Amino acid sequence: MHNIEKSIALFDRAKSLMPGGVNSPVRAFKNINGNPIFFEKAKGAYLFDADGNEYIDYIGSWGPMIMGHSHPEVVNAIKNQADLGTSYGAPTGLESDVASLIIQCIPSIEKIRMVNSGTEATMSTIRLARGYTNKNKIIKFDGCYHGHVDSLLIKAGSGVSTFGLPDSPGIPKDLAKHTITCPYNDVEAFEKIFHEIKDDLAAVIVEPVAGNMGFVPGTKKFLETLREKTSSSNSLLIFDEVMSGFRVSLGGAQEIYNIKPDLTALGKVIGGGLPVGAFGGKKDIMDYLAPIGPVYQAGTLSGNPLAMAAGSTLLNLIIKENPFELLEANAKELLGGMKNIMDTAGIPFSTNQIGGMFGFFFSEKLPNNITDVSASDDNIFALFLNACIRNGIYFAPSKFEAGFISTKHGNNEIHKTLEIIENIIKVGVTKK
Ligand SMILES: *Cc1c(COP(=O)(O)O)cnc(C)c1O
Repeated sequence: MHNIEKSIALFDRAKSLMPGGVNSPVRAFKNINGNPIFFEKAKGAYLFDADGNEYIDYIGSWGPMIMGHSHPEVVNAIKNQADLGTSYGAPTGLESDVASLIIQCIPSIEKIRMVNSGTEATMSTIRLARGYTNKNKIIKFDGCYHGHVDSLLIKAGSGVSTFGLPDSPGIPKDLAKHTITCPYNDVEAFEKIFHEIKDDLAAVIVEPVAGNMGFVPGTKKFLETLREKTSSSNSLLIFDEVMSGFRVSLGGAQEIYNIKPDLTALGKVIGGGLPVGAFGGKKDIMDYLAPIGPVYQAGTLSGNPLAMAAGSTLLNLIIKENPFELLEANAKELLGGMKNIMDTAGIPFSTNQIGGMFGFFFSEKLPNNITDVSASDDNIFALFLNACIRNGIYFAPSKFEAGFISTKHGNNEIHKTLEIIENIIKVGVTKK
């Protein structure tokens, strides 16, 4: 068991200065009743905390560390750019470098705009969709999280589910009424809602591979129905690939399903660990944005040179190595090993993975939507997660979050992880 004295002291100090001691709710470990770990450095597959403990990291900064932490080429790109200046508030060629790499990998994106977070990206796609279609309503799916955008923080998964809030105070009812929610992966429910509101439907937004209700991929039939119906009503289909983009495959989830959305939101991986988001899509829709179109959108630090240098370097590495088959094979080995351990102990357990994203659930049946995920065992999850973290395996501290693996997670890391988990289960994770 790791000694985490310094993390405990750092959390106490942070709590006196910041709401809940954190700048993003999931980091507070409230869901598993634990003390968050405070980190000082990271390298490859490993995190190192303030007490000097080492962790095998299966969060990877929620996606960006797909080639491992502190990748020397990414770190050098940031250092070199820092010497040249950190922000000009004016255009650079670096922005076009990142734009062309993304457009090359994701054919539905013909033009793109950079922003500073995934939230900004999805928020902007909604405004653009409403402006372009001249309609108001949005359909989103229960358990899909699209950032903390007013119109989209309605039956959102992840942090919101973790804290049991159906939505958030502070969002006007007059705005929320334009967002209609629907169960994920439920074709009939969607068709019913669609036919009621299609004349005023600006867009349908979806995580094609959901990573904010645990890891739950959309079914092909479900996603194809969304494409068909939105095309038939002149509404836009928005794929929120902030998490799945450059995580499940080089062309995102849309490549795996072979479905072209009208707009795509990106974030996480494309910034190489710096704060970046982006949204893009069909040329005629994107050209509806200022300065050539009427829909306003802007950002003082958008396309920031440090962030673009990190992003283009990481994207080039990913394109060169195309590591997604390797990542999936390694994720499968990890999850297969975990499943064996749980089966032997008689603990209901199910797993799933695509590329470098994965999920595991303490339930017999693999979840298909947020209702299924909610039904999985909270008690075992919290006990298991606390035991993992205290023994150096850093999984996401909520059953509503996905797992992430990097190219630096080799046989050594996976076997070490399984050995630790086997010991945890032997000691008895189901004991209170
Ligand atoms: C993380 C995430 C967002 C929000 O991105 P931020 O950078 O945290 O604002 C939006 N959509 C999805 C699918 C995400 O996973």
